[in-house]
Amino acid sequence: MRKEIQIDLLPEHGEDRERILRAISSHLGVQVSDIKGYKILRKSLDARKKPIHYKVLLEAFVQEEPQQDTFEFDYKNVSNQPEVCIIGAGPAGLFAALRFLELGLKPVIFERGKDVKERRRDLANITRHNTVNPDSNYCFGEGGAGTYSDGKLYTRSSKRGDVGRILRQLVLHGADPSILYDAHPHIGTNKLPGIITRIRETILNLGGELHFNSRLTDIEVQGNAIGGIRINGDFRKTDKLVLATGHSARDVFELLQHRGIKIEAKPFALGVRIEHPQALIDQIQYKCDSRGEFLPAASYSLVHQVEGRGVFSFCMCPGGIIAPAMTAPGEIVVNGWSPSKRNNPYANSGMVTSIEQKDFKPFAPFGELAGMAFQRSVEQTCFEAAERDLKAPAQRMGDFIAGKASSTLPENSYLPGTVSRNLNEILPSFVAKRLREGLAAFGKKMKGYHTNEAIVLATESRTSSPVRIPRDKETFMHVEVRGLFPCAEGAGYAGGIVSAAMDGENVANALSKVFYE
Ligand SMILES: Cc1cc2nc3c(=O)[nH]c(=O)nc-3n(C[C@H](O)[C@H](O)[C@H](O)COP(=O)(O)OP(=O)(O)OC[C@H]3O[C@@H](n4cnc5c(N)ncnc54)[C@H](O)[C@@H]3O)c2cc1C
Repeated sequence: MRKEIQIDLLPEHGEDRERILRAISSHLGVQVSDIKGYKILRKSLDARKKPIHYKVLLEAFVQEEPQQDTFEFDYKNVSNQPEVCIIGAGPAGLFAALRFLELGLKPVIFERGKDVKERRRDLANITRHNTVNPDSNYCFGEGGAGTYSDGKLYTRSSKRGDVGRILRQLVLHGADPSILYDAHPHIGTNKLPGIITRIRETILNLGGELHFNSRLTDIEVQGNAIGGIRINGDFRKTDKLVLATGHSARDVFELLQHRGIKIEAKPFALGVRIEHPQALIDQIQYKCDSRGEFLPAASYSLVHQVEGRGVFSFCMCPGGIIAPAMTAPGEIVVNGWSPSKRNNPYANSGMVTSIEQKDFKPFAPFGELAGMAFQRSVEQTCFEAAERDLKAPAQRMGDFIAGKASSTLPENSYLPGTVSRNLNEILPSFVAKRLREGLAAFGKKMKGYHTNEAIVLATESRTSSPVRIPRDKETFMHVEVRGLFPCAEGAGYAGGIVSAAMDGENVANALSKVFYE
């Protein structure tokens, strides 16, 4: 007999098999010896009532042996199969490639950056030597922007694809199986590179190709169809192309505009990154002095409307680090990551407001790239306003809301360093105003959140793409260029690791249908 039941577990008993068996036994009124096993379907922390506990939905097997989960995917050897070129080895490009293996097509990936190991040196150079390699940084390189991230895997786009397929493939390549049932799964920066490496090995072992240091420099269109591409200037004939270059590949957007390939400006979000002591967020969220040994570092999710626009927290990293995520010299961009244990003493989160077309009207001469030009100008203003190295302009939260410069800054996790500046004078005034009002409101919603112990750093600008590459709803092909498949975040069809990976799969399915069915 199989029974789906929900049990409550204290945090200290979350992994305790004996306790779980006893809880099942008392819930179902059966002997512990009759329970042959159980499978956790969902586990979420309920901090609303004391004692804080996990709600665990599980399937219990009584007098019946549990079935082993299988993670078999039908990846085929594609050495002699037709080739499909993919640009970008981020989550979208890699999961498109895995799907092509199942569909019997040979993925050939071109990635401007380096493999995960080599890439690490360039990340160290950003923090130690203030140098940004425009082809290898927190956004570019094997695994894309998702590699040195928090690896949060929850998505609101579950209708856009099969989230379970993405998670199971991550487990197949080394992720902890708990991501399959955790309500807020995450992997952690320390574990992601190993998983990405194993995905690469699957692709290469089955005859696919992955070329590093290989930047798309041109797209040639013949009539209304893809005729070929240039990689580092060298021509390669192809009639089909998956373009999965992410939201930071500004040169790709410029190339599309230059080649007259239709693109559109789209709304995006921009703001700051906020960092509190993790202990303070734990106290607020768990209503206790200290979270102790067993509770995870607490997180939050906040949203407020100001002047009809959203101000919202984004990519919250409990126990995390603020990352320098710029992709070119002369700009400041911040983001966040955390290790699998989320055990750093800080809690950081993006805090952004939506930016719509009317907000970047002064950049209209840039045409479809007006949003991108606005985004770049804010990043460059932050660079100019600090010390023209990679230090971020920063302010205490209370001072930011009050509009006065901070005489000192709190310690924080942003390794290149911070300089005290009045962000109200650096950020576009409408952005600063909305953030001030949003933060003040969050202080009322989450007592203690509005505090001068927190630091605000500018700017968090790479939340989503400021450009859309329009595609047909059915074929996923560009609306004007046959054979061009705009994919995932850079094309404006995904946001986050899982949704980008799902879009990679969807594009692979669509391409196979258009060309091979
Ligand atoms: C620090 C950080 C933390 C993040 N944390 C999370 C998180 O916890 N959870 C989450 O869901 N999301 C997170 N994100 C966002 C997430 O990483 C992205 O949404 C996701 O990676 C987008 O996937 P993608 O494949 O569409 O594009 P990308 O990951 O951006 O990949 C695009 C790839 O294309 C390559 N490329 C670009 N131009 C060219 C060219 N001309 N030629 C060849 N290659 C090119 C790039 O080098 C890159 O590898 C984070 C991002 C950052 C930067």
